[in-house]
Amino acid sequence: MSDDSKTYPVPEAFASQANLTPEKYREMYAASIADPAAFWGEQGKRLDWMTPYTVVKDVSWETGDLHVRWYSDGVLNVTANCIDRHLDTRGDKAAFIWEGDKPGESHTVTYRQLHASVSKFANVLKELGVKKGDRVTIYMPMILEAAYAMLACARIGAVHSVVFGGFSPEALAGRIVDCGSEVLITADEGLRGGKSVPLKVNADKAAGIAGGTVKKMLVVKRTGGNVSMTEGRDHWLHEIGATVSADCPPEPMNAEDPLFILYTSGSTGKPKGVLHTTGGYLLWASMTHEYVFDLKENDIFWCSADVGWVTGHTYIIYGPLANGATSVMFEGVPTYPDASRFWQVCDKHQVTIFYTAPTAIRALMREGEGPVNKTSRKSIRLLGTVGEPINPEAWEWYFHVVGEARCPIVDTWWQTETGGTLIVPLPNTTDMKPGAGSHPFFGIKPILVDADGRELEGAADGNLLITDSWPGQMRTVYGDHQRFVETYFTAYPGKYFTGDGCRRDADGFYWITGRVDDVINVSGHRMGTAEVESALVSHDAVAEAAVVGYPHDIKGQGIYAYVTLRAGCEADDALRKNLVAHVRNEIGPIASPDLIQFAPGLPKTRSGKIMRRILRKIAENEFSNLGDTSTLAEPEVVKDLIDNRQNR
Ligand code: ATP
Ligand code: MG
Repeated sequence: MSDDSKTYPVPEAFASQANLTPEKYREMYAASIADPAAFWGEQGKRLDWMTPYTVVKDVSWETGDLHVRWYSDGVLNVTANCIDRHLDTRGDKAAFIWEGDKPGESHTVTYRQLHASVSKFANVLKELGVKKGDRVTIYMPMILEAAYAMLACARIGAVHSVVFGGFSPEALAGRIVDCGSEVLITADEGLRGGKSVPLKVNADKAAGIAGGTVKKMLVVKRTGGNVSMTEGRDHWLHEIGATVSADCPPEPMNAEDPLFILYTSGSTGKPKGVLHTTGGYLLWASMTHEYVFDLKENDIFWCSADVGWVTGHTYIIYGPLANGATSVMFEGVPTYPDASRFWQVCDKHQVTIFYTAPTAIRALMREGEGPVNKTSRKSIRLLGTVGEPINPEAWEWYFHVVGEARCPIVDTWWQTETGGTLIVPLPNTTDMKPGAGSHPFFGIKPILVDADGRELEGAADGNLLITDSWPGQMRTVYGDHQRFVETYFTAYPGKYFTGDGCRRDADGFYWITGRVDDVINVSGHRMGTAEVESALVSHDAVAEAAVVGYPHDIKGQGIYAYVTLRAGCEADDALRKNLVAHVRNEIGPIASPDLIQFAPGLPKTRSGKIMRRILRKIAENEFSNLGDTSTLAEPEVVKDLIDNRQNR
């Protein structure tokens, strides 16, 4: 078991300036649960409406008539909220600070400049024939035009589907076909870690695979690399851009008109086309961004995700802009030119709030403290993490080494489906426990149930459900409402099933224990993967670990651990024994790994999450059918894992 009792108080310097207090959180949370319609009716006023709503909540989670609507008679435009309404007071404030892959390259874009660029881009889309309701696929590097493209869609009421620029032509084509998108926006090439990424070449291949779906391709010049343009289909942004006006009034949109489709990371299977709409999503993005990050007017906020993931949508683009904040957008990777880059960028732009993923933290931890200590980091006052459970070892490193024990850590649990954060230790409202998601955001009522759906009270371990809707909730799986109903509302009718396992400790803190599909059952004891992995990672030799079950004659399931070592550590039987003893000591004999495979790398999604379902197949000796691998970042690591698997 993780150490439930280890707590850190919020550092005093932070607490004295924080927006929230424990009392204020308790008060607001109680109000949000007692009368959701009144609470959300009031919160909806954060946004500017062209026609105010009179209906706040119209939701049914009954499987026969499942619908989710918020503010459903209100009319607004997302970009009017993210740009236009700030022009009077924040016109010269930086909306974005862009930092290039190559150190030394950066630009600042003010809200006024953003207004002009997005309006022009929107007019370019109109020139290409894009209309309200049309789907537009965006396959871009992390350049400002990616943000302009998304916002331009929102300005004219088109629905964007951003596909991460690291995806293959096949994966891109699948997503284009799934949502029937006739327009594809891309760039000549991307730049990441000093290497160029052939985006236009991939886009051409994808258009071929998609068999005529793509009618128009809009190409942004990033590197100036040589690309071929198909006559009649392909257009350069800068060419059409030079001919259009910088005036494009925002399209009035119903709160429930679609804003975007985004495919989930694909950790557990075929990605789902998650649909978010205009009003509720924007409200959730804005409100969580303000409260989760203790936002102040002069903050420089940096979310290091890619805009190809929901984290980039909500916390690089929509949340920060709706709040009139300054958002840093980074084209590169954490380790280029070296492992100091994140912290150098923080120093360069005086970043005050920094938000990243456990996979990046573990990768940097592997390089030791040297690259961190070379930098100042004094501007940072709050740190955040998202994407996977953070191992307590990595949390401690982030807290002590990166934040020098000055900065609270917000460990934000959420999903593509939820639109924004649902479980989090809101700054200055609670002591912090390393590795705990902690407490629900306003309006969120989590419960834990056993396999039969019986609600568990007090300290307990079970499946995590949410009992009532919140404005940022996804509305459907695009084109497949039945899949929406089946995936989230069928196992436990009337409740939203998150797919994650969770433990509530005696102090009422929530700990995400991993995906329910990954739970291991050893001799009748149910165990989350996160805890066994965290025990392994807490050993000095271990950089990263992934744990899965495999069929075991006596125990039902045995524990198979894949372990990546820190630089310079010897992979041998002595270390295997040592690791088993270490886990026994940390958790107990029941959690002892039966088999340990040392691996140079683990299979991950392109957003950096460990894909345990593939590891499970290998452990089960069923590697001939690995299922959907289109979201795998480095297919080569799988071959090494198969070749070196451990036999019983
Ligand atoms: P798919 O749904 O296609 O399998 P995915 O679940 O990885 O992919 P996302 O929506 O990107 O797609 O990820 C959400 C999941 O990530 C959560 O359900 C949870 O398992 C994990 N997660 C995200 N943030 C945290 C966090 N702070 N702590 C623990 N787990 C987290
Ligand atoms: Mg998921």
